[in-house]
Amino acid sequence: MSAPREQDPDCLFCKIVRRERQAKVLFETDHVLAFEDVNPQAPVHVLVIPKAHIASLDDAPEGSEKLLGEVLVAARRAAHEKGIAGDGYRIVLNTGPDSGQAVFHIHLHVLGGRPMRWPPG
Ligand code: AMP
Ligand code: ZN
Repeated sequence: MSAPREQDPDCLFCKIVRRERQAKVLFETDHVLAFEDVNPQAPVHVLVIPKAHIASLDDAPEGSEKLLGEVLVAARRAAHEKGIAGDGYRIVLNTGPDSGQAVFHIHLHVLGGRPMRWPPG
């Protein structure tokens, strides 16, 4: 069982964790950081990441189940803190090229504040 690698020096989201890049942080816990997406696709668009570097869901090592659960619960917290939980919200986890994943540090998108369409594009 291998723990996630702590940090990747070149990763954009690791730099946000280390405060080397600016972001509008919503909250953080020991293991998780929530911040505003710089290019929001909805009135509320928050990203939730583990502070440890994991490139994607597909790269999450054995033993990361608890951490992944914390990220998911933090996404719910973000929805509540942003006031969209009552109307509902969408969690997106892009994984790999066909999904459109652009930043290879695993992140949940928390989207809300408007009705979402289905199926997604
Ligand atoms: P994905 O396509 O799932 O990898 O999503 C990457 C997300 O990161 C996009 O929604 C971007 O707008 C967002 N993003 C990229 N750079 C930053 C940044 N410096 N601060 C906040 N969000 C960012
Ligand atoms: Zn990273």
